Amino acid sequence: MMRGLLAFAALFVAVLGKETYEGHQVLRIIPKDDVQLSLIKDLEDSIEFELDFWRGVTDVATPVDVRVPFHSLQSVKIYLETQDIVYSIMIEDLQVMLDYEQEEMESAARVAEPRNTDSYDYSRYHPINEIYSFQDMLVAENPNMVSKIVIGQSYQGRPLNVLKFSTGGTNRPAIWIDTGIHSREWVTQASGTWFAKKIVTDYGRDPALTAILNKMDIFLEIVTNPDGYYYTHNSNRMWRKTRKPNPGSSCVGVDPNRNWDAGFGGPGASRNPCSETYHGPSAHSESEVRSIVDFVKSHGNFKSFVSIHSYSQMLLYPYGYTKTPVRDQNELHNLAKKAITDLASLYGTRYRYGSIINTIYQASGGTIDWTYNQGIKYSYTFELRDTGRYGFILPANQIIPTATETWLALMAIMDHTYKNPY
Ligand SMILES: [Zn+2]
Repeated sequence: MMRGLLAFAALFVAVLGKETYEGHQVLRIIPKDDVQLSLIKDLEDSIEFELDFWRGVTDVATPVDVRVPFHSLQSVKIYLETQDIVYSIMIEDLQVMLDYEQEEMESAARVAEPRNTDSYDYSRYHPINEIYSFQDMLVAENPNMVSKIVIGQSYQGRPLNVLKFSTGGTNRPAIWIDTGIHSREWVTQASGTWFAKKIVTDYGRDPALTAILNKMDIFLEIVTNPDGYYYTHNSNRMWRKTRKPNPGSSCVGVDPNRNWDAGFGGPGASRNPCSETYHGPSAHSESEVRSIVDFVKSHGNFKSFVSIHSYSQMLLYPYGYTKTPVRDQNELHNLAKKAITDLASLYGTRYRYGSIINTIYQASGGTIDWTYNQGIKYSYTFELRDTGRYGFILPANQIIPTATETWLALMAIMDHTYKNPY
């Protein structure tokens, strides 16, 4: 009876509460020249087809991935064919993939809840309450190294938790890592959880990490956009932005990676609240962003800042808002190369690297442009796996391989930061 009721309740939520993506396809479009490039840009700027660009327009021959709702499929395909633009179907029916992901999570949820961080299942995606309890367990198990700092609250009142890894001292030079500022990029929060466990496991075992932690602190924010993350689990798997309503618009949320005070409101961000790249009413308008800004400023001793996204396998450094190269371009470039080489040494996963504007596209108001301008030299952004086969719906069996290879790149960046004090 109880089971029946629960199943019924689950069905109810599934039917009434969740956005469905039945018949939505993800198309991969390859622009072959500048004319096609600008035609696809027009598509990106238009709202009539309700398109969701998973990988935005960059340059000729670089793929653009776009989710097309069922009701627009016909028109979009005709448009592309008429213009002689080459495309392929990356995902045949998005809902089929989402159903599979959901089934996998539910079967994991039937296993008893972990009592400690050793029995936590790192190879699964977890809802927000489980990540919150993971953090508390990790703190309880490692009281001498790990503490939890609440740097603020999300719009809906969820705590913005940051794990601090420290072996002593006061206000030591520090490294920041955040995951999940875009909520649908699930492999990032899952990797962040794995990194947290990795740090406590490797301290005292791995000489490089031990040396770093004997001189520096590491701060890790795993669920950087908690309202969005909750929403991806309960209402809309494809949610990217914050969940703050926009006065005068029926569209909700701001892109928290366009909300920083670095070229704010410039090209590569949208002023339309309905856009996935809406920059918000003003710089740092989102408490999820503002809380980091305040924390970083009051700390005053961050030497490296790494903000982790997915997907497309890239390691990027500033700037995104301007073509002007950063003063440390050579050093950041060489370090990126070393980091992705280390990353690839494990499974051969290939990354591209470079400045944001030269490697993806112009994007203003981005996190690491702001941190770099604050004087945090080693500012990087990752785009984790994959290159589009699954996109944001990366199968859970890729979490640990993704986190493990990414850790090698993080170690390269942290080690360099440690060895090059400034
Ligand atoms: Zn992202």
